[in-house]
Parts: sequence; structure tokens; C-alpha cells
Amino acid sequence: MGWLGLDDTDHLGGGCTTKTLDELISNLPKNVSVGELRLVRLWPFAKQRTRGNAAVAVQLSTEKENDLMIHLDDWWNRKIKPLAGKVTDSDDYHREQFATDPGMVWFSNKIPEDAFYYDAVRREVKLSDIPDADKSWGGHGRIGATAAVAWSKSNITFEAIAWRSQDGEYQENVRRIDSKRLQEIDAMKDTFMSRDSRTGNSLIAPRGPCPVLFGVRATTFKSAEKSAQYLIDSEETEAISGMRVFVTNQASDDHLGENMKDKVNEIEILSRGTVILTCTNHKIVAFAESGKIKLLSQWLKKGDEVEFNGLHSPDETIHLERLRIINPVPEKTRPMCEKCNVRMKSMGTNQAVRCPKCRIKSDILWIDEPRKPPFENWVQAPLDSRRHLTRPIEWNVSQ
Ligand SMILES: [Zn+2]
Repeated sequence: MGWLGLDDTDHLGGGCTTKTLDELISNLPKNVSVGELRLVRLWPFAKQRTRGNAAVAVQLSTEKENDLMIHLDDWWNRKIKPLAGKVTDSDDYHREQFATDPGMVWFSNKIPEDAFYYDAVRREVKLSDIPDADKSWGGHGRIGATAAVAWSKSNITFEAIAWRSQDGEYQENVRRIDSKRLQEIDAMKDTFMSRDSRTGNSLIAPRGPCPVLFGVRATTFKSAEKSAQYLIDSEETEAISGMRVFVTNQASDDHLGENMKDKVNEIEILSRGTVILTCTNHKIVAFAESGKIKLLSQWLKKGDEVEFNGLHSPDETIHLERLRIINPVPEKTRPMCEKCNVRMKSMGTNQAVRCPKCRIKSDILWIDEPRKPPFENWVQAPLDSRRHLTRPIEWNVSQ
């Protein structure tokens, strides 16, 4: 028994590592049995990350491992190696694009320690850092491939992925999926991130020329499989070429460390509403797309204490994934007139304040009034701008 890992076969213009694995599995020798399939998301800031930033792995068992290696050599040379060197430039995609550099690894006996997985999901990893496999093929993709095998599954979810049937159709970006059934699936308690209930938009289908028709995410294997099959069985859903259920690290928060606390010293609001919060020990960023995180950040004032978590970006800032206020500084306001219940007004610099109605004076110039934040609890970005790895905050309470 052993594990085969695979990564870096897709690019912006096409290809998909899950489809490459599906084809590999479908063409294995008869005496090989297939176990668990994994879809593992990696560090979102990795320089050479692929479009979906995911690696895959599969558990394989055979009595004849040598024959399997001969088969994999041949499959690698004919089907995967030719995928190298593909690169697509895109105007609206600002990140530097690297050519695909597929990699495949086979671990027969000793599985790499999960410390390597945590490195690959939290920071930049070099090819020279990877543990030795029993056999390996190709280049840069060996990093993700090894991480997928090393993953110790402390937090798991599932994704049932279905692939489109015709090669030509990949070019057409519109995918036909039964939207009524998707709505039913979204209402089930074991599925998550299927549909954005605010906009009604599907969240299960990728955009662009990629062979994936959809991926249904769920907290159980059965629920992922049944929901995907329910969509596939509808006449309103286009034909597929296959479907498989993967165990994934999506919604695991594995890319994050412990929550952090800090005091806000400076708030800078940029164009489109992005907020830079300079705190005592951290510089944190709330992006324009981050919904409630952005709104709460814009409301903050100097001296507020916040608790947060997010990704450590290579530019030394923390990109917020969740935020809550733990201690808002009070607001200094003028006292109220007890008789008239209206706010008193200043008569001039450093002078007493006076009620505008009854004209009574007060020597108390300022009072502390508690500020009411727009959100009392943790907030997160809306579904459509959340990372695959991000765990819904509701889960930390209810699951
Ligand atoms: Zn008064």
C-alpha cells in the first residue's frame, strides 16, 4: 500500500489537477485497488501557486508494486509530463504567472511527517525542503504532491467533483447545472458554501476553461456524494465524464495559527474602502471585498482592542480572515441636560457647557460614552470572497 501525490498540472488557460488524477485512476492496472482521494489546498501566497492552489493524492494498494511503478513511469511520460511549460497571461490577473511544472511522488512505506504539510499550507516552501519520496517524477509540483501525502487530516471536509464531458465545451465558460436542485442542496445541513444566499449565485462551479463542472462541499462523505449525484441525475444539468469524492482540508483553518490580540493605533482607509490598521505589534489589512470585516474595521478608533486572525502575507502585513472587537474605547461627548434631556453645548474653548434650551451650565465638559460596534461577535468575509481553507466561524460554536 502507498500514497501517490500529484500537483501543478493546471494553469489559468486550462487543465486541472483533479481531472489529471481522475484519468490516471481510471487507467490503472486491474490489480491496483484505489482507496482514499485527497484534495489539499496550499499556502495562498505561494509564488508558484496554481490557479486552484490545490494538490491531490490517492491511496493505492497492489501486490505488484514494481508493475505499478512501471505503469506510472509510462503514464507520467505520455500523459503528465507533456503538461509542463504551459503558461497563460491574463490582463485582469495581476500575479506573476509561472509555467506549469508538474510533479508526482510515491510514498510506499514511510509517510512524510505532517510538519511538512503545515509548512506548505502556512509559508513558502522550496523544492529542496521536501522529504524524500520512494519515487518521484517532475519538478515544482512535487512540493504540493508531497504535502497532500503528508497531511494528517486533523480537520476534514469533503468535496464531490464532477468533470464536464466534452473537450470542446471546456471553452464555453457557462456551465449548465440544475439551479433548483442546487437550492435544495444548499438548504441541507451537511453541505456548505454551495450557493450565496444573498445573491443566489452558485458557488460550486469554477469560472473559465477548466474541466470541472462543479464541486459540492460537505461535512460528510455521503452527503457530498449524494448531493453531487442528485445534480448529475437532473436533465437540467449537463452531461459529465465522471465524479469522485475527495477528502479535503477545506474549511480547516490549517493555514492559520492562534488568534491574536492587539491595540489599534492608527486607521487608514484607502480607496474602495480597504482599511489598514496599524496596531502596537501588527499591521493588519481589511480588504474592500471583506464585507463585515471591512465595515467593523472602518468603525474602529485609536485605542480599541481587537482580536483577529489572518494570513501572514510576504509584505509583513496580516490579511484579516476574522475579526472582533474586545474592548472599544469610549467616546468623549458633551453631558446631557438632566432636565431637558438634550445634549449640552460648548460656550467656547475651555469654557463651561450650557443647555441650549434651559441655559443651565455645567462644569463637567466631557463624559465617556460607550460606543456600540456594528457587530458584537466575530465577523468573516462574505462566502464569495472567502478562501477555500477558511473555516466558517459558526462552526467553532456549533460543531
Ligand atoms: Zn436644559
